Amino acid sequence: MINKTVLVTGGAGYIGTHTVLHLLLAGFKTVVIDNLHNSSQIAILRVKKLAGDFGNNLSFHKADLRDRDALEQIFVSTKFDAVIHFAGLKAVGESVQKPLLYYNNNLSGAITLLEVMAAHGCKKLVFSSSATVYGWPKEVPCTEEFPLSAANPYGRTKLIIEEICRDVCSAEPDWKIILLRFFNPVGAHPSGYIGEDPQGIPNNLMPFVQQVAVGRRPALTVFGNDYNTIDGTGVRDYIHVVDLADGHVAALLKLDESNIGCEVYNLGTGKGTSVLEMVRAFEQASGKKIPLVIAGRRPGDAEIVYASIEKAGRELKWKAKYGIDEMCRDQWNWASKNPHGYGSQEDSTD
Ligand code: NAD
Ligand code: UDP
Repeated sequence: MINKTVLVTGGAGYIGTHTVLHLLLAGFKTVVIDNLHNSSQIAILRVKKLAGDFGNNLSFHKADLRDRDALEQIFVSTKFDAVIHFAGLKAVGESVQKPLLYYNNNLSGAITLLEVMAAHGCKKLVFSSSATVYGWPKEVPCTEEFPLSAANPYGRTKLIIEEICRDVCSAEPDWKIILLRFFNPVGAHPSGYIGEDPQGIPNNLMPFVQQVAVGRRPALTVFGNDYNTIDGTGVRDYIHVVDLADGHVAALLKLDESNIGCEVYNLGTGKGTSVLEMVRAFEQASGKKIPLVIAGRRPGDAEIVYASIEKAGRELKWKAKYGIDEMCRDQWNWASKNPHGYGSQEDSTD
């Protein structure tokens, strides 16, 4: 048993639930804070079940990260060894429409968290950044040293929080912060018991494909088939959410090393896959035909983005294990068992 306690903000969400399960199974005591804005408490109950006896090491607080008093209470009642910070709004289009909402939620949330952590002497953090900070990269694979940019307010919140973390570590060298730049998380836990359940119309490719496959939407709109890629469609680095969860345990272990300061790692597979290749893999896994409508490019979209995975391999001793076939298999398993996500009538009571 690892006698360590981790606070996970946004732990009821898609990546959070998978990570919390991994932490529990690795022996960490885990406390989740989430305001359930984009998630369901059913997800937490399912994580508890999946973790078996380790489920007793999970506790949940429904609260907003910006609620300083609520956060204080949590830190007063529990001494944390480290924090994993997932909580945030993440819809690119919505961030363009409502920039203040995004700056308020993501930046105020992060600042309040850092202040309360410092006040309680907890100075180890893993933060969810994103490949979006590479903008339209001039070349691939993207290494951690590439120049950074933001194409929208969501991306800018990631850039700003990264900068805040670097400044905090420079000012107070006893902080240890790992910034993880996630590429494109897809798939679900192989049990089909937890997975992604976006509210409203999905922004991301695979949740949309999944909803077409279960009959919730008529067709996938492909944003552009005139890119300079294998088949004209955009190329991304899709990573199984279980691999991503595993990367967080590796990052926590890294935080135990001395004097790391503020470090950044890509979490991707190092492989690029086009939209059409991904759709084909999903059709294969699901046996469902995905009708396509070809449309123009989506503003702000890059052509090809995939990760350099060397630094994470070398320093975190972490490498993704799964490929797109496993991602699509597990995504379909989750989708077919939960066509309406956590809102499925037959599932919502357990
Ligand atoms: P998600 O929406 O499923 O999870 C985020 C969780 O944070 C939700 O449960 C939401 O209710 C909670 N939350 C939001 N604001 C909060 C607040 N102020 N107080 C308390 N809880 C709050 O998203 P996800 O896909 O699991 O993403 C997790 C993190 O990873 C986010 O920061 C996201 O920006 C980042 N990320 C996601 C992706 C992706 O494609 N999914 C890619 C790169 C980075
Ligand atoms: N995409 C698409 N149709 C959709 C959603 C996404 O063709 O409904 C494409 C998008 O243009 C990009 C790829 O799928 O080339 C991945 O998009 P996503 O939004 O999932 O990730 P991001 O662009 O943020 O990396």
